[in-house]
Amino acid sequence: MAQEHNLKVKEQNGATYLQLPLFRTKKHAFCTRTGEKGVLDILGVPQGRLLTLRQVHGADVLVFDGDTRILTHPLPYDAVITNKKRVALGISTADCLPILMIDKSKKIIAAVHAGWRGLWRGIIERTVGEMIKTFESSPADIVAGIGPGIGPCCYEVGTDVTSLFQDSYKDAHQFIQKREGRQYLDLSRAAQLELTTVGIPPENIETIPLCTACREDLFFSYRRDKKAGRQLSFIML
Ligand SMILES: [Zn+2]
Repeated sequence: MAQEHNLKVKEQNGATYLQLPLFRTKKHAFCTRTGEKGVLDILGVPQGRLLTLRQVHGADVLVFDGDTRILTHPLPYDAVITNKKRVALGISTADCLPILMIDKSKKIIAAVHAGWRGLWRGIIERTVGEMIKTFESSPADIVAGIGPGIGPCCYEVGTDVTSLFQDSYKDAHQFIQKREGRQYLDLSRAAQLELTTVGIPPENIETIPLCTACREDLFFSYRRDKKAGRQLSFIML
């Protein structure tokens, strides 16, 4: 499956952030509870050039065409793609998965917010589909990084959730764990399966195997803290 344990934990100017070597670009980061401000500066994101979304747990994909009005007025989407330079695509999470993608051949990037609802609604398939349709991207050229989210160690879910996946995914047993009569969802595993299903080679997928609920030292977690901050993940061409 996907590659793991290659992550680089960086600490600069009081900010801790994670990067994935597979991207082979410094212009991306999975930030932590120390915040993103310093990281955006360190990695050269110009002031006011962070695009975020009003994440609604849906599966709609925004193609950013350079209209800078949406930099100050986030729109209700859960994924964004662009071929524009000098704009960072950002996703905020606190248990859901941030997924960053890059196609270096076509020079396209994507950022995806994927909780169980988004995954179940097909956010990954929709995002890669849009990269293919709009930018003639080839899945074989796409590199994907799955950031820190809540792990199967902590993410207990009810039958209402598992039955939705079991009804529509033949591989659901690979990402639903059962322990002592309880059921746990492995979001990262589900995302990896979906990424490979749409044609991204397993060797092009890297994961950060850290659980946001377990790693209070690094991350905010909605499940753990109830009312929590969120950490930003972003990528820029
Ligand atoms: Zn955990």
